[in-house]
Amino acid sequence: MRLINENYLELQGSYLFSEIAKRVNRFKEENPDADILRLGIGDVTRPLVPAVVEAIKKAVDDMASADTFRGYGPEQGYDFLREKIAQHDYCERGIAITADEVFVSDGAKCDTGNIQELLGTEVHIAVTDPVYPVYVDTNVMAGRSGNFDPAEGRYTNITYLGVTEENGFVPELPDERVDVIYLCYPNNPTGTVLTKAELAKWVDFAGKNNALILFDAAYEAYVTEPDIPRSIYEIEGAKEVAIEFRSFSKTAGFTGARCAYTVVPKALKGYDSDGNEHSLNAMWLRRHTTKFNGVPYYTQRGAEACYTPEGKSQIQTDIDYYLGNAKIILQGLKEAGIKAFGGVNSPYVWLKCPGQMKSWDFFDKLLKEAHVVGTPGAGFGRSGEGYFRLTGFNTKENTMKAIERLMKLK
Ligand code: PLP
Repeated sequence: MRLINENYLELQGSYLFSEIAKRVNRFKEENPDADILRLGIGDVTRPLVPAVVEAIKKAVDDMASADTFRGYGPEQGYDFLREKIAQHDYCERGIAITADEVFVSDGAKCDTGNIQELLGTEVHIAVTDPVYPVYVDTNVMAGRSGNFDPAEGRYTNITYLGVTEENGFVPELPDERVDVIYLCYPNNPTGTVLTKAELAKWVDFAGKNNALILFDAAYEAYVTEPDIPRSIYEIEGAKEVAIEFRSFSKTAGFTGARCAYTVVPKALKGYDSDGNEHSLNAMWLRRHTTKFNGVPYYTQRGAEACYTPEGKSQIQTDIDYYLGNAKIILQGLKEAGIKAFGGVNSPYVWLKCPGQMKSWDFFDKLLKEAHVVGTPGAGFGRSGEGYFRLTGFNTKENTMKAIERLMKLK
């Protein structure tokens, strides 16, 4: 019998981006001359920086010579990259992380999706709402979510921590048992952040409740303000309770090249049903070496080049460019009298739909009247209803044009 994993039947259709494409295509058919501008994109648009391209080219040449050719590499990443990550992203910022706590991979999507394999099926998870959908869907696949309740628009066995204007986009500590908390800061989709003091409350909660924080820092490179943590390990005690995910995707334009990493501190322990401690670092290593082949050598050399002085400054130029676009969006929305959040430590701007409009109604209005495409907040969860996401990832020219049009909306 080809019995299937029936948990997959509980997955809700990935309606958001297909519905956006459908509506945009219909509009294009009806208005073939419309110059549509996309401010909904979550992908970068600037090419890999020269330092990275040079390093990749050189590494491809290595592969062409018998003396320097590389075959299967260490699944958890080459030491040359793991050491650079530990040194530049952590040690130089006063955080003691060692290379063997760093696991190189092909994406934070894969890592945030796969990490739950290390956990018992009975653990109770909490996510913020709105949320990056990977955290929820991978737990649905694993059978932890309970059923989807269409009336509530939520799964019955997941704790949702609403983040809205009312609570300043700061999730409140749960008043029920929670074993695993997914936190993503700077946040996708809201672009908001937590201060060190706010994040410290979660580290404290996890410590007191033997819970695990899965901290997605895919956008840490966009942090510009001093009191905003770029890493959860800036908080005392976090190494005992948290795993951190990072990516070269939005930091250095690797969305096509594929490279990311996850930090699993050796101080972090999980428990078996008899209460015995186990190293999650050792378990993640076992998982990686069993199921993953590692990131291509030349990609890792490209990622390594991000840590050279030239690489660092070229990457920063691109991040500043996207942040500049986010600023243009924020300024334009302000002038148009539209409330907006995020966009300061993040490429994402989260706006409150004017006139109490629903997310999809505002989507249609923006498309029809301004020929601008964004992302309806309701697509990220129930608490996203009434909000809308714009991103700084388009060109400066297109961003300015889109915002001029948006400001003329009636
Ligand atoms: N985490 C968040 C919050 C994201 O928004 C994204 C991409 O959009 C990812 C992870 C995926 O990163 P990667 O390209 O490394 O898989």
